[in-house]
Amino acid sequence: MKKAVESKLETLKEFAYFFLSTVGIVSIIYGFMNEDTLLKIILIASGLALIIQGIVYGILFESASEIIKLLKKINGLQYDGEISGTEEKEEEVQGKDGITCSKCGAEVKDSDMFCTNCGEKFTSF
Ligand SMILES: [Zn+2]
Repeated sequence: MKKAVESKLETLKEFAYFFLSTVGIVSIIYGFMNEDTLLKIILIASGLALIIQGIVYGILFESASEIIKLLKKINGLQYDGEISGTEEKEEEVQGKDGITCSKCGAEVKDSDMFCTNCGEKFTSF
């Protein structure tokens, strides 16, 4: 199956994030190990800049991917992955816990021995 644009963006996001962070960290490590103060500053500074760029690109690609997914959803198209914050909510109503009185039809808890409305005695259900 051909990869959808949003999936490609997700991959790009991960790539940008990991690649830039890794290079950034390596740069910082080299910076700390370097004897030359000027080189040290340059390496650490560019390392930090790379990590920040990684985060920024990550956020950008993530947002772009989310926007595409949302647009696809609005237009009723199929999209890959999930849109954050739209996870299907668990069925909140899982059927009424109670039962109805066989005599008057009032809703009562199945733990009740008598109908709270008409006083009908419940034997077994
Ligand atoms: Zn009743």
